[in-house]
Amino acid sequence: MSTVVAIDGPAGAGKSTVARLLADRMGYAYVNTGSLYRALAWSAKRAGIDPGALTAEFLAQQQLEFKGADLYLNGNLTGAELRAPDIAQGASLISKQKLVRDHLLPVQRNAAKNCWIVMEGRDIGTVIFPDAKCKFFVTATPEERARRRMAQSGEVASNADFEAILAEIKERDERDSTREIAPLKPADDSVIVDTTGLSIDEVVEKLAALCTAAR
Ligand code: C5P
Repeated sequence: MSTVVAIDGPAGAGKSTVARLLADRMGYAYVNTGSLYRALAWSAKRAGIDPGALTAEFLAQQQLEFKGADLYLNGNLTGAELRAPDIAQGASLISKQKLVRDHLLPVQRNAAKNCWIVMEGRDIGTVIFPDAKCKFFVTATPEERARRRMAQSGEVASNADFEAILAEIKERDERDSTREIAPLKPADDSVIVDTTGLSIDEVVEKLAALCTAAR
């Protein structure tokens, strides 16, 4: 039996921090599905392949598996290399492709087998686990999200300014929200959580109360 708490939302909304803390608090496993798209972007970059046009042959060579919260690509543990800004943009280009989403669907469903899990992404509540026990759409204003991104070292170029990060976030959200397949949007039955002006603790508290009530 698996029970999924789906946390979807745009870039920089604080999803990862909230999802990780919520999982700890509830004693659930945690995975961040964005790393799957990032791992493919990283691998495509290394192979010199256009991230917007991945082939079935390339994907067949990308074996992805979560072990707990850790993601392995072809047996190698992935890490900080996936957090670079160009990899985030590559991931967003990659994620539009149907064959990519088809490739990653079973990886995500397998990660939730036989456990209670908080799963974070863009389409967890709409496509991957439409029957998830709890669904949250965590968001914040683009300006607030850009400010948070600036505070996260490694996620932005060292010389990046606020306007550039804001533009990058808006571009990625626009692409993620308007794509044909599995666009970024709240599920009809998700609770929308606007974290603008809220502390992390306040958000986790709110989500934990809703999860506990649904258990
Ligand atoms: O969440 P993160 O910023 O790591 O995601 C990187 C990119 O991967 C997103 O901009 C989005 O295009 C894609 N993604 C997705 N579906 C998910 C998770 C991430 O399309 N479930």
